[in-house]
Amino acid sequence: MREFQLIDRLAARLAARRADTQLTIGDDAAVVAPAPGQVLAITTDTLISGRHFPDDTPAFDIGWKAIAVNLSDLAAMGAAPAWLTVALSTPVLDGPWCDDFVDGALAAIGDAAVDIVGGDTTRGPLSITVTAIGMLPAGAALTRAGAVPGDVVAVTGTLGDAAKGLGLWPARADTGGDPDTAFLLRRLARPQWRNGAAVRALAHAGIDVSDGFGADLGHVLAASGVGARIELAALPASEALRRRAATDEERRDLQWRGGDDYELCLTLPAASVDAARARLDCGLTVVGVIESEPGLRVVDAHGRRCPPFESDAAGWDHFGGRGAV
Ligand SMILES: [Mg+2]
Repeated sequence: MREFQLIDRLAARLAARRADTQLTIGDDAAVVAPAPGQVLAITTDTLISGRHFPDDTPAFDIGWKAIAVNLSDLAAMGAAPAWLTVALSTPVLDGPWCDDFVDGALAAIGDAAVDIVGGDTTRGPLSITVTAIGMLPAGAALTRAGAVPGDVVAVTGTLGDAAKGLGLWPARADTGGDPDTAFLLRRLARPQWRNGAAVRALAHAGIDVSDGFGADLGHVLAASGVGARIELAALPASEALRRRAATDEERRDLQWRGGDDYELCLTLPAASVDAARARLDCGLTVVGVIESEPGLRVVDAHGRRCPPFESDAAGWDHFGGRGAV
């Protein structure tokens, strides 16, 4: 398959949905026209085979994940996704593989008004770089720095599923039709990006959970110059994770430290939680509260401090405390 054919395949499947996409695939560059008063949020992520997804991941799932992780970053900013570019490096330009990859990418976009407006294909080790561009009103971006004491900390969906799925991946052929295993593997392979734009006006700060809840919350606390008290037992868990985790300790560890869930962690006034939940289709669980005292205080169901979680907020470097960001 010649290089341009992936782009042709994309173009044939990707008639522009958006009126503000003025030129899409087929010219030397795309031309888009943001509405007056809107600003652009721009993010890019590279996924490398063997590092960000197992080497034997199906093409559909690679296409899905490459798109979803980028749309999740836009969601964390409260931006409505609008445009994507997709750069693919692959050892073999294989037609059926590319078709599956495009199928997965389009499935991750779903019904959203998002156009893939450009791309590139090169021969090389398998990796995918996606750039995602979203829009939001000027001055309205949801950042990591907006958390204020008194906010509650809330998280969408459930935590720890993807990390459990990664643990189950090597033996997946032996797990037969177990629906819990299938669910957890799907959570790893096909993360669902959330509609951050819908809750932008209700939240003060946001981040998506890619490195683990504890670490990502730590980024918000550091950027906002605040602390938090988190109730470990409040972290949302799927029924599948509850059934498949060997112990409560394993489950809590996966929920706290597991990455790749791509849920949103928001801070917002307690009075806004019900309205935010109503605008999402994935649940929104309050897990703690922002406090003015710096530091992360993690408590169990009995109110007892849990130092191992507090000290293991990897990447959290509050005022030069411990670890590196
Ligand atoms: Mg992120």
